Amino acid sequence: MAKDPVCNMEVKESESKFKSQHGGKTYSFCSEECKETFEEKPEQYAAGAA
Ligand SMILES: [Zn+2]
Repeated sequence: MAKDPVCNMEVKESESKFKSQHGGKTYSFCSEECKETFEEKPEQYAAGAA
């Protein structure tokens, strides 16, 4: 399981359609809205991601 860094919801990486790369890592999101939020300020959310 991956964690959506924006809303902290658990997301299955294999099932997520919403992904974004930052700092060499791939982040998965529950929705396009969370993905867009992340992409606006990736440094803010990426720091807290597992
Ligand atoms: Zn989310």
